[in-house]
Amino acid sequence: MRLSTDVLVIGAGGAGMYAAIAAARTGARVVLADKNMIGRGGATVMAQMTVAAALAEQEPDTWEAHLADTLAAGRGLCDPGLAEVLCRAAPERMREMDGWGVGWARTDGRIRQVTAPGHNRRRCCYVDFLNTGPAVAGTLRKRVGRTDGVRALSNVAITDLVVKDGSVRGALALALGDGAEMEIEAAATVVATGGLTKLYERSSASNNMAGEGYALALRAGAALVDMEFVQFFPIGHLAPRLVGMDPIMWDPFRYKLGGRLLNGAMEEFIDRYGGEDGGRYTATRDLATYAICREVEAGRGSPTGGAWLSFTHLPEAELRDAFGPVIDRLLNNGIDLTREAVEVAPIAHYHMGGVKVDPRMRSTVAGLYAAGEAVGGAAGANRLSGNAISEALVYGEIAGREAAGFAKRQSGGWDKAAAEALRDAARPGSRANGSGPSAIALLQELRRLMWRRVGPFRNRADLTVALDRIRAMRDVDLDDVPISDERAFAVELVEWHELRSALLTAEAVTVAALAREESRGAHQRDDFPETSSRLCVNQEIVRQSGGLGSRFLLVAQGSIPA
Ligand SMILES: Cc1cc2nc3c(=O)[nH]c(=O)nc-3n(C[C@H](O)[C@H](O)[C@H](O)COP(=O)(O)OP(=O)(O)OC[C@H]3O[C@@H](n4cnc5c(N)ncnc54)[C@H](O)[C@@H]3O)c2cc1C
Repeated sequence: MRLSTDVLVIGAGGAGMYAAIAAARTGARVVLADKNMIGRGGATVMAQMTVAAALAEQEPDTWEAHLADTLAAGRGLCDPGLAEVLCRAAPERMREMDGWGVGWARTDGRIRQVTAPGHNRRRCCYVDFLNTGPAVAGTLRKRVGRTDGVRALSNVAITDLVVKDGSVRGALALALGDGAEMEIEAAATVVATGGLTKLYERSSASNNMAGEGYALALRAGAALVDMEFVQFFPIGHLAPRLVGMDPIMWDPFRYKLGGRLLNGAMEEFIDRYGGEDGGRYTATRDLATYAICREVEAGRGSPTGGAWLSFTHLPEAELRDAFGPVIDRLLNNGIDLTREAVEVAPIAHYHMGGVKVDPRMRSTVAGLYAAGEAVGGAAGANRLSGNAISEALVYGEIAGREAAGFAKRQSGGWDKAAAEALRDAARPGSRANGSGPSAIALLQELRRLMWRRVGPFRNRADLTVALDRIRAMRDVDLDDVPISDERAFAVELVEWHELRSALLTAEAVTVAALAREESRGAHQRDDFPETSSRLCVNQEIVRQSGGLGSRFLLVAQGSIPA
């Protein structure tokens, strides 16, 4: 099956849906494809907390002040151009979403804004009672449905980008329902596939965040940047068992109420690691992750291997006022916050690295754009809370508009031979009767490996073990995965493609982590514990013969020539 369009948007989270709307409102024809259902796949719909934008609804604020906080959190590595675009345009996107009826929480008619770690004033908006992500995704989904010119394809996984004469001309895809192969010819393509945290055993990710977009871009010849910076969210829920709730749901509690973070001896400890907390929740994510992991290592963790988070010092009325029905959902899980602390620990949550783009969201390959968490560089070595959804909306709008502009100027089309060659190279046909472990078993192994060896603390020996095993999985195991001929619900085929991309992305993270011989933000090396002024530079990863190449950039990225 072959489709033809002006703009192909891959991934229908916040970034992809905004990109589709922005492209279509310039008059472009758009195909919006997602391996899940539109608007229900990745991280956007799961987010339950806040969105940062200098709206100045509660106190004076400027985009420059937001930018200053963003740059400080990034530990010297933020791409200043991308960060500026983010902070400048976030208020406009938030107001547009407001006009579309997202339902930002309000006080006396003004949008309510709260502080969050790393922000120096009340800047973070939300939709009340943990509904921020569902409301953002739902609003955009409705808007996509009402926008002429967008053809939305649910349950279609993009497996490769097709490149002709150095320019991306569309993609190969797989329809999940019947395993049918599809060709989508497009003058411009936007990668909006979200992050990679499914590569980690312990993560807040949805099922569709295996970092496939990074691999698509790499295989098409695009550069990635800052792949070593995986953000670990410090207070992911650990114990007791919690069913049907977001593992990072404790963040909004802490925004509103503080909450005491305690070690196994019931002592506050963040200040021992250079942070301040005192129940006020001001320590940034990288620092809090570091502090919790070190306390556990020193034998001062909570019983299940994390830290305690306690709200027991707060009166029930205050908890109920802040969290209404959520308190009862917790009680249904047997958790009474007025009487007991819960255990929390770091989990993989977000990826600062990604496709290298300029402030117009153009990658290093013509016709290829990126948006949202798929983009690398804006957050440097550590992202500020609330900036990720702003990034999805802001970069999505720019990428869609710019891709549509490119499509209008682009001539020439599909390269049949290139598409055929790609399909042959990536077809697991010869592997159909493989007798090795299944793709899902290998993915589980990869997730354990990444958690243990490429997790919050890294060192050369662990990273080398990880890299060797990832390459062996790529070169040997991938060829021996059993795949049945059954095409209805082509699960094995889809998993095989996901694993193939996940391995390339995991390799990129590991190669980058090995090369960065220092500790900075979310990248902590036991063997190089200091931050090096020499390495206050971004790192680019590209595909080259024989594997992946890494080089440190001497100029700020974002300066790709027009
Ligand atoms: C539990 C959780 C809570 C969070 N809370 C917050 C918060 O409160 N505030 C904040 O700012 N940030 C938060 N974040 C981060 C933020 O939600 C994400 O960074 C942001 O939503 C990413 O948006 P996106 O559109 O780039 O990607 P996503 O929303 O992840 O969408 C990517 C889409 O791409 C699709 N896809 C992937 N691969 C393919 C493929 N090969 N073919 C086709 N489709 C594909 C996926 O199915 C998915 O639908 C949270 C993240 C998580 C996981």
